[in-house]
Amino acid sequence: MSKNFEILRKEMVENQIIKRGITDKKVINAFLKVPREEFVPENLKDSAYDDCPLPIGEGQTISQPYIVALMTEALKLKEKEKVLEIGTGSGYQAAILAEIGCEVYSVERIETLAKRAEKVLSKLGYKVRIKIGDGTLGWPEFSPYDKIIVTAAGPEIPESLLSQLSENEGRLIIPIGDRFIQDLILIVKKGKKIERNNLGGCQFVPLIGKEGWEE
Ligand code: SAM
Repeated sequence: MSKNFEILRKEMVENQIIKRGITDKKVINAFLKVPREEFVPENLKDSAYDDCPLPIGEGQTISQPYIVALMTEALKLKEKEKVLEIGTGSGYQAAILAEIGCEVYSVERIETLAKRAEKVLSKLGYKVRIKIGDGTLGWPEFSPYDKIIVTAAGPEIPESLLSQLSENEGRLIIPIGDRFIQDLILIVKKGKKIERNNLGGCQFVPLIGKEGWEE
């Protein structure tokens, strides 16, 4: 019997997101609206609202809902802000950003994932610009970005991304550590000053590229 995704979505928001301390209304509303089941493979749709990451093919994952919410909230997003995402993956995080009202740019290195995400996002009516390439180098043409979110883990913060971040309280969030375990690092840029905060442990797939890990 097919499950009622709307009910599962509401339960996910209540139990995994609000109960764990996410309070930003914009973030909560976006999670209530974006149909996560559209971003997972057909055979995993019934698990779309489970409290864990799920495989999306090519050895990659759609992140656990809570970690998406935590990273999104940490960006302190406002409507119409220009946001760069590195690691489009399934396109779910990009849809959350677009639902909040941001102007979204997203870079993915694996062509099949980028193409699939592009298709789902446009089917659902989300306007997201997607580029296939090495996101460790950012997307200079549209910089500076108000916010940057990196959804794969690097050994250090790519200089290119720091330089493409707005000096006007620009926020960048990225998992930093080794290939298996990392800390979620939040950067706040004020003028030339860079503030670095550690939001705690996490586990992401590696950020592979010129300013990330080698393949
Ligand atoms: N944000 C995604 C979502 O909502 O489904 C989850 C992303 S998944 C955890 C990480 C993604 O980062 C993978 O799709 C991987 O191919 C991509 N990636 C890794 N290194 C990259 C790079 N240098 N540039 C762009 N994408 C990269």
